[in-house]
Amino acid sequence: MKILITDGIAEEGAAALRKEHEVVEKDLSPQELPAEIGKYDALIVRSRSKVTAEVIEKGANLKVIGRAGIGVDNIDVAAATRKGIMVVNAPQGSTVSVAELALGLMLSLARGLPRADLTMHVGKWEKKGFMGTELCGKTLGFIGAGRIGGEVAKRAQAFGMRTVAYDPYLPKEAAENMGIKLVNLDTVLKDSDYITIHAMLTPETKGMVNAMAIEKMKRTVFIVNCARGGIIDEKALCEALKSKRIAGAALDVYESEPPANSPLLTLDNIILTPHIGASTHEGQERAGVMVAEQVLKALRGERPDAVVNKEVLK
Ligand code: NAD
Repeated sequence: MKILITDGIAEEGAAALRKEHEVVEKDLSPQELPAEIGKYDALIVRSRSKVTAEVIEKGANLKVIGRAGIGVDNIDVAAATRKGIMVVNAPQGSTVSVAELALGLMLSLARGLPRADLTMHVGKWEKKGFMGTELCGKTLGFIGAGRIGGEVAKRAQAFGMRTVAYDPYLPKEAAENMGIKLVNLDTVLKDSDYITIHAMLTPETKGMVNAMAIEKMKRTVFIVNCARGGIIDEKALCEALKSKRIAGAALDVYESEPPANSPLLTLDNIILTPHIGASTHEGQERAGVMVAEQVLKALRGERPDAVVNKEVLK
């Protein structure tokens, strides 16, 4: 069968696919993808290619769409489901990479690392301007504590932090195994020195961190979001940072990406990264290998483990 890989995946993953199928690797523009997709039985993308309803409609032979990563925001999953096309992903590929970024952002907030670095590069020595705080002894509150949250918790505990979480779907026993105390959302908001978000963006989590939620937080709190834009109401966050109602925030994800003209870009008590949570060699390699395994299973008629649209499974 013929597999199209549009955004590139780790060589180890592509090699596994080549052992069983004909593989074409090329970057296609949004106009080229619908024009070419008809020839292929499987399509593998990362986040760049947009697998629209049109692409799916024109994919007359498509049996499976693979996402080398977790988020399927760039795939019209509903359209794929309507046509009985399986969508698979690689949900564990970037877990550790994102967890390490969240810790990196927390440390950066605690010690003002990006600003300290900037001052050195312009020849300054502002030792007195960088009085920081320790992570040790602080309370880290999670909104969502699944795969990534669990890895963040382990690392935060090694730093001496107390870990509490609001996660209505996480079994108590699973939380206990991760050393996390399950609490309600208000307790996370009120008690945390750091709040880190690791939930999916759903109608329930959209705007969860809004002005009312921020009002309940400590004035010294730092907020980190490496999950999805939209869980934090950016307008409310911006107001809170401007008025120093909270101490700071660090974002890897935004309501709209890139966040062009966002007032957040002008504030100095926020650290911003361009959605790089999964961007590590190890994370990409794992995601490439995992998605290849999923696509191979689907093409063999076996049941893949990471099917996004389970409705298509018979
Ligand atoms: P996961 O499914 O393992 O964990 C998500 C957790 O959120 C689950 O435990 C779930 O019970 C919880 N949750 C669901 N609804 C909730 C609610 N209303 N309130 C609180 N918690 C709720 O997912 P994961 O692999 O840990 O990924 C977590 C997030 O990280 C996702 O949003 C994902 O898109 C994002 N992510 C970001 C990057 C990046 O590059 N920054 C990379 C990978 C994943």
